[in-house]
Amino acid sequence: MKTALTIGDITVHRVVEQQAPFTDPLEFLPTLTPELLAENRSWLQPEALDRATGKLVLCFQSYIVRTPHHTVLIDSCVGNDKDRPARPLWHMKTDATYMRALAAAGFSVGDIDFVMCTHLHVDHVGWNTRLDNGRWVPTFPKAKYIMADRELEHWTKREKDNAASVPWITDSVLPIIAAKRARIVKSDFVFNEQVQFIPTPGHTIDHYSVLVGRSGDDALITGDMIHSPLQGKYPDIGMMSDYDSGQAGLTRRQVFDRFCEEPTILCATHFPAPSTARVRRWGDGYKFVAAGG
Ligand SMILES: [Zn+2]
Repeated sequence: MKTALTIGDITVHRVVEQQAPFTDPLEFLPTLTPELLAENRSWLQPEALDRATGKLVLCFQSYIVRTPHHTVLIDSCVGNDKDRPARPLWHMKTDATYMRALAAAGFSVGDIDFVMCTHLHVDHVGWNTRLDNGRWVPTFPKAKYIMADRELEHWTKREKDNAASVPWITDSVLPIIAAKRARIVKSDFVFNEQVQFIPTPGHTIDHYSVLVGRSGDDALITGDMIHSPLQGKYPDIGMMSDYDSGQAGLTRRQVFDRFCEEPTILCATHFPAPSTARVRRWGDGYKFVAAGG
């Protein structure tokens, strides 16, 4: 499986933790109707919609962006040893898949200079920390973790009000703050001339995506501004954990409109392998076409 692409003097690597038929599409995309699903089944199957189970196939992965100056890991997936009883596939898991994938891409935890958190959902912050003698410590020993200010404020308040409702904030975000590893920025932060954030709010309050490269030769690491290619054809279809699905739909339309005539490669976090594509117009919506070649 091809897991790296080259953008000028930057390489982008995929580090996959899981890819599996994950959830019932009608539950995951609450405004999707059985009729609309039936109408689209043929092009979604088998990659994005599993034939046997009827579930949406989702990938859980990090992107590593290697520039001449830095190694940046974007979104840290699910993690190990985390208490997630609501999700059997994630609950207290101890597998070596993620660390093996990191090594296979040519990196060790000590190579990561920055971890960028597009948003602070459970499956994007898990490997921020690892368990060490009963304590949660930063997994990437020298990394700074970059988070958007209003995103962090929102989740910190929720944790304070009801910690049991957001255990991933307690075990995977707050220990980073306590270890003084967080760098808090605006969601339009310019990291350097080849790495900048694009605010993509809606899925969460202050979600960002990461644009890397130079105009004409670039890639957008989406984070969760989209989960399924079906939300390209129908940008207004929201996802069950959205903070504001209306805003998420507007974000998708804006971002896809901006890039649909560009060579920009979208690196979609949850799209099944190969996860990378260009976006093009498709009727009133958008489709994703192979980025190879
Ligand atoms: Zn999310």
